Amino acid sequence: MERIVTKEDYVRSLKEMDRVIYYRGERVKDVTEHPAFIPHINSAAKTYELALRPEYEDLLTATSHLTGEKINRFTHIHQSVDDLVKKVKALRLLAHETGSCFQRCVGWDALNATYMTTYEIDEKHGTDYHARFLEYLKSVQRRNIMLVGGMTDPKGDRSRPPSQQKDPDLFTRVVEKRSDGIVVRGAKFHQTGAANSHEILVMPTMAMGEDDKDYALVCAIPLDAPGVIQIFGRQTNDERKVECSADIGNLEYGLIGGESVVIFDDVFVPWERVFMCGETEFTGIFVERFATLHRQNYGGCKGGVSDILIGAAALAAQYQGTLKASHIRDKLAEMTHLVETLYAGSIACSAMGQKTKSGAYYPDPLLANCTKYNVTKHIYEISRLAHDIAGGLLATMPSERDLKSEEVRKYLEKYLSTVEGVSPEARFKVVRLIENMTGVAPLAESMHGAGSPQTQKVMYARLGRFDVKMTLAKKLLGIED
Ligand code: SF4
Ligand code: FE
Repeated sequence: MERIVTKEDYVRSLKEMDRVIYYRGERVKDVTEHPAFIPHINSAAKTYELALRPEYEDLLTATSHLTGEKINRFTHIHQSVDDLVKKVKALRLLAHETGSCFQRCVGWDALNATYMTTYEIDEKHGTDYHARFLEYLKSVQRRNIMLVGGMTDPKGDRSRPPSQQKDPDLFTRVVEKRSDGIVVRGAKFHQTGAANSHEILVMPTMAMGEDDKDYALVCAIPLDAPGVIQIFGRQTNDERKVECSADIGNLEYGLIGGESVVIFDDVFVPWERVFMCGETEFTGIFVERFATLHRQNYGGCKGGVSDILIGAAALAAQYQGTLKASHIRDKLAEMTHLVETLYAGSIACSAMGQKTKSGAYYPDPLLANCTKYNVTKHIYEISRLAHDIAGGLLATMPSERDLKSEEVRKYLEKYLSTVEGVSPEARFKVVRLIENMTGVAPLAESMHGAGSPQTQKVMYARLGRFDVKMTLAKKLLGIED
């Protein structure tokens, strides 16, 4: 694949791939021509398009520490605290441009987690995963491809580890080792952006024990490799998307990233694309690193998306003539407080980032987990306030077709009119945007994307240093052991 530079290159590169993908029971020939996928492609394409604009060069490009070349920041390994902070700023900027998930951060976080962890595996085992990975990384940076980070396995019976499942394929595993590579079988769920990415970086889904060696796997697989099959998920209101109706609220960029189940039906992976194979003791730290890097993001992207929601709620109030009411201004202020709290968390965990043994920088894990945990709550409250401000039309607004209908348009124009000079179309658009941005898909994504709230609580128990805090309390009280 030649280097992808422009949005057009990106779309062309997707067209050239012969991926196997199904949507609602049918194989999709070309995702770039199908309305279920186009908004997500447009959103991810912004990571290419905006990187070419001089005003965003500092945030959306970087200098490769491997080659000295200018690269897209979404393929960069963080070399400083400044890089970590720029990551969060870049995400807020892209969220402002799309109002949606632009998907490319998952693969970026997978690249950084692999970089740090392969270095440490080699240090302990004398393996050459890191050197292999550096070659792969150079090729990712040169081609400027989009990766999806493949973490979540189906997991079967949650009370059993991978090797104790009745069906051993419920966790992604190596089924055969050959002289030239491995054969992989299994699946990954909730794969944001897989439908319009070039490759998947497969990672372990959780900490594993000695018996789970076949499941301790990190490798890179092109999404059109033989044996890779995707089944694209349904989303709230996706019929509106497929109808290309403005009823979807954000037809250009979608509501969240599109998610697929990615199946590996005995996929061959050459050794130069394998970056962990059996080192179970590194699975826990791998998952922790990927999760921390992704949780770092959420005050950036969800903060940025919520800025649009605040703007839409304020517009809804303005169009209704209530913007100056003190209770509306108070609700907008409350929404602002919640959004900036999320952003502050992302900036704080970045500012407190530290250098790992590999040289790559890593955000503070406790603060990154706090950021994501706040997102699981604040986004619901921000949405509740937007509902409160926008009013009942959120649930009852007639469709775009009625607004265009010869017979009933005149009634809607008359009865949807509010403040002088506000068109019914503008009111319709704002209400539809709020309705769709606060629907179940974006909320569930805020709850479970980058890990469900309980996974952050587990990290608090591990990183919260209760022993140190008990010592502080005892010292203050003069209690001796
Ligand atoms: Fe990026 Fe946010 Fe989407 Fe995750 S949810 S891929 S961090 S935009
Ligand atoms: Fe996400």
